Amino acid sequence: MKSLISNSAQIKTTLTQYLTLVSGDYLYGESITSLLLTIAECTKKIAALASKGNLDTAVGNFGATNVQGEVQINLDVVSNETFITSLEKTGLVSGLVSEELDDPYLIKVAGDGGEFLVVFDPLDGSSNVDVNVSVGSIFSIYKDNKDNKDDSASLNFLQSGNAQLAAGYALYGPCTMLVITIGSGVQGFTLDTETQEFVLSHADIRIPETTSDFSINASNERHWEAPIQRYVDGCKAGRTGCRGQDFNMRWVASMVADVHRVLMRGGVYLYPHDNKLPARAGRLRLLYEANPMSFIVEQAGGKSTTGRKRVLDIKPDEIHQRVPVIMGSRLEVNLIESYHTEFDATHAEVKNSSSLDQTQLTQSS
Ligand code: ZN
Repeated sequence: MKSLISNSAQIKTTLTQYLTLVSGDYLYGESITSLLLTIAECTKKIAALASKGNLDTAVGNFGATNVQGEVQINLDVVSNETFITSLEKTGLVSGLVSEELDDPYLIKVAGDGGEFLVVFDPLDGSSNVDVNVSVGSIFSIYKDNKDNKDDSASLNFLQSGNAQLAAGYALYGPCTMLVITIGSGVQGFTLDTETQEFVLSHADIRIPETTSDFSINASNERHWEAPIQRYVDGCKAGRTGCRGQDFNMRWVASMVADVHRVLMRGGVYLYPHDNKLPARAGRLRLLYEANPMSFIVEQAGGKSTTGRKRVLDIKPDEIHQRVPVIMGSRLEVNLIESYHTEFDATHAEVKNSSSLDQTQLTQSS
């Protein structure tokens, strides 16, 4: 990979060239290449539309709300349609799950039909569009097990993140980037606006093990669990506290932008469980936000956890399931996990001792 990028001054490796070169190394390589190139085309369209801002009526407020109760803007709707129409045309896909749709979108084609499932968030962080701040698209590709050919087809989507064949995101920032993994490292491509080609600009991205950046929505602090409070308190105390070093806080409120920063220069991104809405396990969606990003972060040498469990090991119960997410620099995530382990152990002791007391009381009475 290093050789590909060191030549970049003379010969630029495009996404198509890169995928053609490596597709033989992967199971279903040819199909994955075709799907990734299709998705890349979608992201180019969305990038072009987003860059027009208010000059294009598509970006205005649509007035409807989606299944998550979020206000949909036109760009959400158009991005969603772009993904669906393009993927349907490939003939490779049997079903789609989108953040914008209540139910899976099943694609019936003649014969056996498509073999793959694609899950996506067509426009992540879309409330940022109004204020001209970076947004993104997130996606992931699975093999359709075809276990359920009938109406309960959503069951086929309930695979753990470990089953992902490929995943990626597009970041619509000052420049448009496409970051992908097919399960052996992470490659970053930048859109050359003159040629409209994605060019390999960040080969084999690695997340530094340590960091002095953390990224969390601090307005939820009073709702956090004790291990998260403890971690953030340590970061804020800086050199004078238990960590003995100063930290910076960064928060864009666009998952793609926040995680991209972690990939580029290290850091830890947290959207933990909180008690603001106790019934909700977390804020981010497992299938099309947490899993693809966790796959990428792990492939870049980082780590992703709920605090108590590796995100990619979670077996989903439903397609729009939410999870707590803590991802980024490996040693920092290890520390946060250890805070959860210690907290749970102390609580278990308290619970055990109180139930012991209860038993003793029952026995003595
Ligand atoms: Zn999203």
